[in-house]
Amino acid sequence: MAALDGLPPLRDVIARHGLDAKKALGQNFLLDLNLTQKVARTAGSLEGVTVIEVGPGPGGLTRAILALGAKKVIAIERDPRCLPALREIADHYPGRLEVIEGDALKTDFESLAQGEPVKIIANLPYNVGTQLLVNWLLPRAWPPFWQSLTLMFQKEVGQRIVAREDENHYGRLGVLCGWRTQAHMAFDIPPQAFTPPPKVTSTVVHLEPIATPLPCEPDRLEKVTHAAFGQRRKMLRQSLKPIGGEALLARAEIDPQRRAETLSVEEFCRIANLL
Ligand code: SAM
Repeated sequence: MAALDGLPPLRDVIARHGLDAKKALGQNFLLDLNLTQKVARTAGSLEGVTVIEVGPGPGGLTRAILALGAKKVIAIERDPRCLPALREIADHYPGRLEVIEGDALKTDFESLAQGEPVKIIANLPYNVGTQLLVNWLLPRAWPPFWQSLTLMFQKEVGQRIVAREDENHYGRLGVLCGWRTQAHMAFDIPPQAFTPPPKVTSTVVHLEPIATPLPCEPDRLEKVTHAAFGQRRKMLRQSLKPIGGEALLARAEIDPQRRAETLSVEEFCRIANLL
């Protein structure tokens, strides 16, 4: 596909800058600009929006975000080898791309946003992505500084994010995401779309904050889901023993013979509020 932005094909960029993929950094690059546009479009209109992109790599997704009209992209990349390629994109879009070399897990995203509403878009190694997602969902203050999260994960993680009670994959991540966001899996991306191909199918998940989630302390909710899903095959009277067991469940009016995976987000919040 001819690039919409007049920049060279990503394959050439990667070859010219010697960006052979590093496994340790989870580098599986998306080179198809149709696909990177599809990912960026999942975030909704980007016209006039500031986007924080995590893990731009050689910049395929970055280019799509800019081509779709984002006012500004702030991109955090850990691999210094990618910086010259990203600089070429920054030169092509003067004043619209700021690249920060660093570890996203140590980045203060809220201060980067500088009070502006931002959309966050990322294609990250899944362990980094999951940890960041949890960090973005846990602040005490809500609604958060971000308007939406559009994140690529391995499909199984996407299924955990959107799963609700009595569904396969339901667990701590599903409770947390269900409590504070509306989340959906937008579309899958097969391994062969990446260079090099990962072992599993990926999926793009889009999350938007619920303006007024059920009142609950994040720490307490974590405590309950940690205990409940830590022993997910056991009845709640057993798994919740360390934090109050049957007495707690009686106060919450929840049958102690039930198991964690049958409890709704509302029921988890109810128990957490009684701790
Ligand atoms: N966005 C590009 C794409 O879609 O082709 C690259 C995606 S690749 C799966 C993940 C990128 O995240 C790599 O460029 C890698 O160097 C970067 N990365 C990995 N760990 C990171 C971290 N902790 N902080 C920032 N970037 C990271």
